[in-house]
Amino acid sequence: MQFSSTKNPNKRVSLSRAVLSGLAEDGGLYMPRRIPEADQTFLKSLEGKSIDEIGYRVLYPYLEADLCPEEIRAIVKGAFNFDTPLKKINQNRYTLETFHGPTLAFKDVGARFMARLMSKLIEGDDRGLNILVATSGDTGSAVANGFYDVPGIRVFVFYPANKISTIQEKQIATLAKNIFPVELDGTFDDCQRIVKRALNDSELTAGRRYTTANSINIARLLPQMVYYFRALAQLDNLPGRDIVVSVPSGNFGNLTAGLMAKRMGLAVKQFVAATNVNDVVPRYLQSGVYTPKPSKETLSNAMDVGDPSNFERILALYDNDSKQISNDIQGYSFTDDDTLKAIKTVYERTGYCMDPHGAVGQLGLEKAITNTEKTGIFLETAHPVKFQSSLNQLDIKVPVPERLKSYLKREKKSYPMSNLYQEVVQFLKAHSLD
Ligand SMILES: *Cc1c(COP(=O)(O)O)cnc(C)c1O
Repeated sequence: MQFSSTKNPNKRVSLSRAVLSGLAEDGGLYMPRRIPEADQTFLKSLEGKSIDEIGYRVLYPYLEADLCPEEIRAIVKGAFNFDTPLKKINQNRYTLETFHGPTLAFKDVGARFMARLMSKLIEGDDRGLNILVATSGDTGSAVANGFYDVPGIRVFVFYPANKISTIQEKQIATLAKNIFPVELDGTFDDCQRIVKRALNDSELTAGRRYTTANSINIARLLPQMVYYFRALAQLDNLPGRDIVVSVPSGNFGNLTAGLMAKRMGLAVKQFVAATNVNDVVPRYLQSGVYTPKPSKETLSNAMDVGDPSNFERILALYDNDSKQISNDIQGYSFTDDDTLKAIKTVYERTGYCMDPHGAVGQLGLEKAITNTEKTGIFLETAHPVKFQSSLNQLDIKVPVPERLKSYLKREKKSYPMSNLYQEVVQFLKAHSLD
């Protein structure tokens, strides 16, 4: 498979180029040149198939030009070392739990896959790969864990001191080996500014290789198609069902992956773009006009995005046909009050505890389908325990999983630094791989 920029479909690059450079030279985002249809035998025999079996079948056409079958199998197996269980909530209503990776959010899927893929793509190359990532919390923990101990790669995670949660900091700053946590005396914006400046600093990057692991990388999207197929594999009586899937969305990577899966043949009739009050996409779906806005803070803070970067991928996938886009996606937005009420109601009625992001997905699903003849699935994107303060407000207690407890016991080892570029660049020069 070749990949092309959303800004210029005619210029094509290899998988390796698309993944190792992240952003296209023209500033566009990479997309597969075409979306291949999955074969009918595979689609008809989904039931009961495991996540790595599905992963191999779904991802093969995107990777086979650069990797051999054994390599693809090994990357998929390593990335999906946890399942995405489908749980029944109510009559014909399900949640797909995508958060069973090491940092308890779905971002583990993309980060683990990207780490293994990058490591394979640079194998045999005598230069190392340095990855710079700025984080306000979740992305940094997934990336640090995904790349931990991966040969040939060193990761510098920049996070603002005292501005991320204890759980997040422990997941970033207790790993060591090839993970270098930079605790910056500044804000998230300072972290982002410094990372951008470093990536464009020709004195720093001369003779060394640097890239970033943020969500614009196509390697994070591709594996997210897999769990949509895995969701359907867990339903009985699949052929008779009319399925709607609701995706709590911020930067819209997750929904884009779902739409790509649909194009491959996934039997989902419609998707729901569920957002908090950062509602530029639901508005677009109603009016056909896209108007980015500054983001507003909400309880579902990983979705506080005012100008979602993957929206241009959705436009590219549909050739800018807004009518077709509105046929396949319904969009709804919800307030923090709606979100807390939904968590409480579902908990009281069913005993299932949603996190604020999943709750927005559940609300979107209920708005999109009112009868129980259709099958509804919403994605749960994080473990509720990561959002303890919302649960405290509602007097709901969930046990802390062992995996998190073990992180909390570990000792933090970070590199504290001022927000002065010169100080950071000296540090990078001293510790980067050649
Ligand atoms: C990042 C994130 C989202 C938003 O996903 P997008 O792909 O950016 O739309 C939703 N929920 C959680 C918990 C996240 O971390």
